[in-house]
Amino acid sequence: MNIEEFVSLKNLTTLRVGGNARYLVRVENLEDLLAACNFASEHSLPVIPLGGGSNVLAPDEELSAVVLLMRIPFITYEELETTVRVHCGAGVEWNEFIDGCVEQELWGVENLAGIPGTVGAAPVQNIGAYGASVSDCIEYVEAYDTAKKKVVTFTAEECEFGYRESRFKNEKNIIITGVSFLLTRSGAPNCTYPDFTTYMREHVGDVCTTPRNVAFLVREIRKKKFPNMKEYGTAGSFFKNPVLPHAVYESLKKKYPELPGFNEEGGTAVKIPLAWILDHTLSLRGYREGNVELFNNQPLVLVTHAGATAQEVKNFATIISEKVFTVAGIKIFPEVQFLK
Ligand code: NAP
Repeated sequence: MNIEEFVSLKNLTTLRVGGNARYLVRVENLEDLLAACNFASEHSLPVIPLGGGSNVLAPDEELSAVVLLMRIPFITYEELETTVRVHCGAGVEWNEFIDGCVEQELWGVENLAGIPGTVGAAPVQNIGAYGASVSDCIEYVEAYDTAKKKVVTFTAEECEFGYRESRFKNEKNIIITGVSFLLTRSGAPNCTYPDFTTYMREHVGDVCTTPRNVAFLVREIRKKKFPNMKEYGTAGSFFKNPVLPHAVYESLKKKYPELPGFNEEGGTAVKIPLAWILDHTLSLRGYREGNVELFNNQPLVLVTHAGATAQEVKNFATIISEKVFTVAGIKIFPEVQFLK
């Protein structure tokens, strides 16, 4: 096991803020993971897994923990009767996984192209985009339980997936080491979101008939809306889109008749695009305080500029939450996880 000390989390997280991790271990296999967990318990420190660092806010002060840089690499494809099992190590980059699947002409994850991060992080917040969620095609998740000190497996049902939710968000003792997906060779494109229609209207000749061209379209669409991570510090959408009871949605709709709403949780609730509230009721596109800003092309996305601190990001998030509460009376919650 190779332990590094006082490693800057600014360089390991895409928001590009934060201080040092007391210890950092690169985890490439189960042996590394067990050794790191033993080291952490000998030093009475928690372990904190980190994938691509694209959905976390690191604290400004030193993080007293053993940070596990999850880099377990492998992808295997197994032809089953009607599906193909893709088994993947937690450290594989999500987009490398997507490229492998579309090269094999497998349907199921193409709408999730372009999301940053690693395969192991994907189930934690049940990443989703354009009408698909990773939970739709997960067969099981493999993990190490640091409390029980044993390797465990969760079926998709046991993962307790919800909208950008899973049990892994709350159970910090579970370190995901691998994910098994069931994909299909006989799928069909799911290109009903308005962004697809707009893109196809503007790019006559482009088609979405194979997993490869759907993934291509999704990446093109995302390029226009989401900031380039090489240019900005960002974690993509900073807040979750609110899922509201029907009565709350109806009363908001009286105030804002144009407010879009989408049925969620089997029609028992309504999901609203928070970007619409930020844009149409608060005019917050491009709103900036110090080194933190809401991205002009998609105001749900927060970007940081050079010199930003985690405290600034937190203060900014509080300001936005309060503004939303004032105009809409709803509480919003970060999608980004705060490491402290
Ligand atoms: P968008 O397409 O402008 O959509 C905004 C909101 O409206 C989202 O909540 C989306 O639901 C919902 N929506 C739009 N059309 C819908 C339809 N036909 N049926 C049901 N719901 C609909 O969102 P965006 O911000 O530009 O992001 C593009 C996609 O990437 C979205 O699907 C978004 O959720 C996804 N995304 C995911 C993550 C993540 O997994 N962490 C981060 C950033 C963006 P959905 O959220 O269910 O799609």
